[in-house]
Amino acid sequence: MTSTRRTLTKHSDVVRAARAARGGWVLAGVYASTEAGRGAARRIPRAERMPAYAPAGTFEAYDARHEDGTAVWVRYTAGLPKPAPRPTSMTYRVCDRGTGSGYVGVSVRSIVLSAECPRCGGPRGSAVPQRFHEDGDWYTVDKWDNPCGHVDTYTSVLAEYLRDRKLALDALRDHADLDEVGDGEYDEPVALLNALALVLRSASARDASRFLELGGYGEAGRRVEEERTARETRMTLRDAARYLPELAAARDACTKCDGGWVDYRGRDGEFVSLRCGTCRREARAHA
Ligand SMILES: [Zn+2]
Ligand SMILES: [Zn+2]
Repeated sequence: MTSTRRTLTKHSDVVRAARAARGGWVLAGVYASTEAGRGAARRIPRAERMPAYAPAGTFEAYDARHEDGTAVWVRYTAGLPKPAPRPTSMTYRVCDRGTGSGYVGVSVRSIVLSAECPRCGGPRGSAVPQRFHEDGDWYTVDKWDNPCGHVDTYTSVLAEYLRDRKLALDALRDHADLDEVGDGEYDEPVALLNALALVLRSASARDASRFLELGGYGEAGRRVEEERTARETRMTLRDAARYLPELAAARDACTKCDGGWVDYRGRDGEFVSLRCGTCRREARAHA
């Protein structure tokens, strides 16, 4: 693939395809430079120096790793029901048949993967449960089709998951003193992120969310993603590690709510509970 092709992306064609896809993600271009890709992903929603995407607020965009550089994906959202936010990771149940050549039977493993196809950065497909019978037992695994057309095999995704898992475990072993980790709300997930920051270069907040999910800290990962989408500037994994203690401290200091919820009494006497914007709790704590 030549750089000519990349620079000659006709954004008017992308816009036409994205409108036709009605909220589906469309590849807008592949940039040789990471900075150029990130810049385009930032400017497209604002239609800033990219007039094909006008008016501002008509498109969403994101950048992701692509085999040939940095991909930018866009979706058209104007006038459509608010689309689901992009997931920060995908959890699938897959068949694990071991790595040797002999038959060792099958086990089902739940794995956490990047939400994007490793080849083109397009969104991965939704899990569809599928039951099968083998050696006298029934199993349920997930199948999925990636909209980009690239096929994930169980072997390749298991390897992808185990690589992430090993990276996290090695980082913790080499760079975290687990005896020193406090018992604050996010101390454990922050220790994981700080360890990862020392071994991963230029990791993003979305990488942070994926590793948090993988480590069993899904709620922390969702708070990071919430903060990332609210920020105007790019948020890194290190920023995520700084943000979580700030959120924990804000929750400790909050006097506006009851366990993350604020009750309002309407004129009709009915109570309405609203999520506290400071605490950003996920579910109502039942007393
Ligand atoms: Zn793909
Ligand atoms: Zn609060």
